[in-house]
Amino acid sequence: MKLSIVIPVFNEENNIIPLLEKLVPVVSKYDYEIIFVNDGSRDQTVNVIKTSAKNNKRIKLLSFNRNFGHQIALVAGYEIASGDAIVSMDADLQDPPSVIPEMIKKWENGAKIIYGKRQKRDVDSIFKKRTAEFFYRFINSLSDSNIPENVGDFRLIDREVVGFLTSLSEHAPFLRGLVAWSGFPEDFVYFERAKRNSGKTHYSVSKMLNFALDGITSFSIKPLRIATYMGFLTASFGFLGILYAIIGKFLLPIPWVTGWTGLFVGVMFIGGVQLITIGIIGEYISKIYIEVLNRPHYLVKERINI
Ligand code: UDP
Ligand code: MG
Repeated sequence: MKLSIVIPVFNEENNIIPLLEKLVPVVSKYDYEIIFVNDGSRDQTVNVIKTSAKNNKRIKLLSFNRNFGHQIALVAGYEIASGDAIVSMDADLQDPPSVIPEMIKKWENGAKIIYGKRQKRDVDSIFKKRTAEFFYRFINSLSDSNIPENVGDFRLIDREVVGFLTSLSEHAPFLRGLVAWSGFPEDFVYFERAKRNSGKTHYSVSKMLNFALDGITSFSIKPLRIATYMGFLTASFGFLGILYAIIGKFLLPIPWVTGWTGLFVGVMFIGGVQLITIGIIGEYISKIYIEVLNRPHYLVKERINI
């Protein structure tokens, strides 16, 4: 059995050595390879990896020209991984290598996807926990796939699942959704998510929001439908308003110069609904646009030990 570890790295110079010190002893009882995918780091990350790769040919490096994004880096790692089982993890020691043997056991027992599930997330802020909870509930209610709660990109997947993931040509792959969507037999391994070893998260609030939008638009067209319904709803309000105006003008004995508030609220509301609707449509059109351009998903600068 061959084991591949895929680790996307973006400015992680101080994490590589501590990670390898923990990871290598765990995986060395297997036939292993550790694939670092450098996603356009601007610090010493590449040099640190190169030094390690000189002493250990099982450590491999694929380096991108620039930053293409975490998910693309993962896919690139999957493409060159040759293992029968492939583990993806963060470089910052938030995903403990010590649970990998347990993942492999479950894989040997027949599961094809073994998620690392965060048992406690004390280190994450309340804000991150709540928004994540809301997001997964929302996306699961919108789509057919069922992404388990409290799992990230720390998981072991079988060669077959990797084959499926790398056969896709999506430019903004939402991997945890795709993995769940594939429907292979799954299992869980529980762990406590540690604090980041060094540096800070690359997922700012705006990046998380974009990630969430990518997730939703790649798994559901329901937002478009909701937009249509909103259109119908406001149109019926408008229609009722017209009826009321006509009846009021001719039949009701009320002075017909009532205030501007109703008008203002109506205009704002309909304007808002229209903008949201255009925005939703725009999201999907931009997705089509990116796919139609069909540019390469990433450009490779350098390969070491590959
Ligand atoms: N990462 C990457 N490209 C990016 C952002 C992040 O390759 O554009 C890597 C990063 O080096 C880390 C992993 O993806 O190994 C997860 O990122 P991070 O730890 O910042 O996310 P968090 O764990 O805070 O969600
Ligand atoms: Mg992390």
